Amino acid sequence: MADLALSNLKKSYGMVNVMPDINLQIEDGEFVVFVGPSGCGKSTLLRLIAGLEDATDGDIRIGGESVVNVPAADRGVAMVFQSYALYPHMTVRQNLSFGLENIRMDKAEIGRRVTEAARLLQIEQLLDRRPRQLSGGQRQRVAIGRAITRDPKIFLFDEPLSNLDAELRVLMRIEITRLHERLGNTMIYVTHDQIEAMTMADKIVVLRGGRIEQVGAPLDLYNRPCNRFVAGFIGSPRMNFVDGKIEAVEADHIVFGASELPGLRLPATNSGLTAGDAVTLGVRPEDFVLATEDAQGWPVQVSMTEQYGASSYLHCQFPDGSPLLVHEQGQSAEGRGAAIKVVPRAGHWHLFRTDSELAIETVGRRTLVSMKRGAVEGLEV
Ligand code: ADP
Ligand code: MG
Repeated sequence: MADLALSNLKKSYGMVNVMPDINLQIEDGEFVVFVGPSGCGKSTLLRLIAGLEDATDGDIRIGGESVVNVPAADRGVAMVFQSYALYPHMTVRQNLSFGLENIRMDKAEIGRRVTEAARLLQIEQLLDRRPRQLSGGQRQRVAIGRAITRDPKIFLFDEPLSNLDAELRVLMRIEITRLHERLGNTMIYVTHDQIEAMTMADKIVVLRGGRIEQVGAPLDLYNRPCNRFVAGFIGSPRMNFVDGKIEAVEADHIVFGASELPGLRLPATNSGLTAGDAVTLGVRPEDFVLATEDAQGWPVQVSMTEQYGASSYLHCQFPDGSPLLVHEQGQSAEGRGAAIKVVPRAGHWHLFRTDSELAIETVGRRTLVSMKRGAVEGLEV
C-alpha cells in the first residue's frame, strides 16, 4: 500500500514529445482512472509508473521513495494488460505462481497466495486448466489473479476489459470495484470508456495530448467540467454545444444568443462577461425541459424519437439544421416532425469561452448546481 506522486514527469520518443509535463498526486488506497481518447498517453503514463519505460525527465515517488532508477520488478507494482499475457503452455496454477517461483519465494507462501487469489476471483475450479480452455472473462480473471499474488503496493490496469463483450464488461467492472474495496490497495485503471471511469473511480484523471485536462471525483467532473473538452468527454450521450454570443449582461442575468434563435435569459452574476463575448453554451441531453408555447426557449423540430421505455431520446434539429439531443424521462409523446420548444433546466447549463474553451463560472450557476438535482424545474426568469 502506498501513495504515488508524479512531478514534472516528461516523456519523449526521439524528437516527439508525447508528455510535456505531468504533475499528479494519488493517495494511498485510491482507485484512480486515467481516461481519454486513443493516443492521449494513458498507456505511456502507466508504463512510466510501472518502469516499463524510462521517463525523459521528472520524478515518480511510490510511498515517498523515488523509483525512477528502480527496475520494474522492484517497484512494488503489478500490471494487468488488455491482452492478458498468460503463458499458453502453463496451467492457471502455474501462471499464477510462476512469477513468485522466479523470485524464489517459499513454496508454502506461494501456495497460500495462489489459493487466496483464486478464491477472491472465484477461479478455484480452473486451476488445472490451460488458458486456451478458458473464456475471455476467465483469462482476464487469471491475469488479475497473477497481479494479486504479487501483493503489489499499486495495481496498474491497462484497459483490462476492452476484449470482453458488453455484458461481461459490466460484471467485471463491478468485480474489480469490489476487489478494490476488499484489498484496499492503490489502483490505477486506464480506459477510454468514460462509463467505466464514472462508475469505478474515486478520482478521474482526464488526459488529452499527453496533458492532464482535469482531475476530480466523477460527479465533480460531470457537474463542473473545467473546459469544453472535459464537458464533451464525460457524460454519455455527450453534451450539446451551441456556439453564440452574449447579447446582454443584466444585474443578475445574462442573455445568450445564437444565430436565428431567440435569446435565452440565464440567471448569472459575476460572470465577468460583457456583451459581444463569443461563448458556447453546453447543455446535457437530460438537462432540457420541454417548454410551453409562451415560455422562453429554443424552437426545434424532432427528427427521430427513440423510445427506451423508461426514457426517450428526441433527436432534434435547430432551424439551421444543426442537431440537438434531448433526453426525456418516461415515454415521449413527441414523434417525428413535432415542433417543440426546449429550455435548459435552471442551473444545469455550462458556458465556455469559444476561443479558449475554458468554462466560465458564474455565481448564478454555482448556486443552482449545488442544489439537489431535480429540485429545480424549468428556468428561473
Ligand atoms: P493511449 O494508451 O492513450 O492510447 P499511448 O500512451 O499508447 O496512448 O500513446 C501516446 C502517444 O505516444 C501516441 O501519440 C503514440 O503514438 C506515442 N507513442 C507511444 N509509444 C511510442 C513509441 N514506442 N514510439 C513513438 N511514439 C510512441
Ligand atoms: Mg493504451
